Amino acid sequence: MTATAASIVWLVLEICWLILRWQPNRHARKAPVRYSGRGVREFALLGASLTGLGIIPCIYLAAQFSSHFRGFADYTFSPVQAYLGIAVWVGALWLFYRTHRDLGPNWSVSLDLRERHTLVTTGVYAWIRHPMYAGFWLMALAQFLLLPNWVAGPAGLVGFGILFFGRVRREEEMMLAAFGDDYRSYACRTSRVIPRIY
Ligand code: SAH
Repeated sequence: MTATAASIVWLVLEICWLILRWQPNRHARKAPVRYSGRGVREFALLGASLTGLGIIPCIYLAAQFSSHFRGFADYTFSPVQAYLGIAVWVGALWLFYRTHRDLGPNWSVSLDLRERHTLVTTGVYAWIRHPMYAGFWLMALAQFLLLPNWVAGPAGLVGFGILFFGRVRREEEMMLAAFGDDYRSYACRTSRVIPRIY
């Protein structure tokens, strides 16, 4: 395995993730929304995440083909680290697949409540309250492990970290307002992203 091969693997897995989201995205557009927490703040948070998990690594990939920018902020590539990154990426894809199956039409890319929104507490949602965000953390960690570059590697952790910490409390407040005691007791028996820890 070389650094270039690891970058290509990252790109292939990112495309797999896009394909996995394609169908839920189509369905989400059709399900009517009864409340939306979208606004400038959500737009900026989504932008930060997209930049860190998509735009910056793509620029890094493109820069590898440019004699001028190639090598900027690179560090020594480790195949073991890259293989670990692939394993983490596959784990993230599995988690995305499961969360989309469990959330069904309740899913949205931002803070929305559907007309017929139901509180999901089964499947992976029985373990933690934010398994999809756990998937994003794994995706960002995989990026860090696969791309041996001090800018592109950690960009996903920073970008998604901004979205996560800027959104999670607001999302829980929205769910609490919508589902009251049902959400309160669900929150009491689950952690956010790491079972029993956080
Ligand atoms: N935070 C969750 C879901 C992310 S998708 C996770 O990480 O898995 C964001 C949307 O999911 C929010 O707009 C909210 O309406 C919805 N949502 C979050 N938790 C939910 C739950 N337990 N049941 C149903 N919908 C939920």
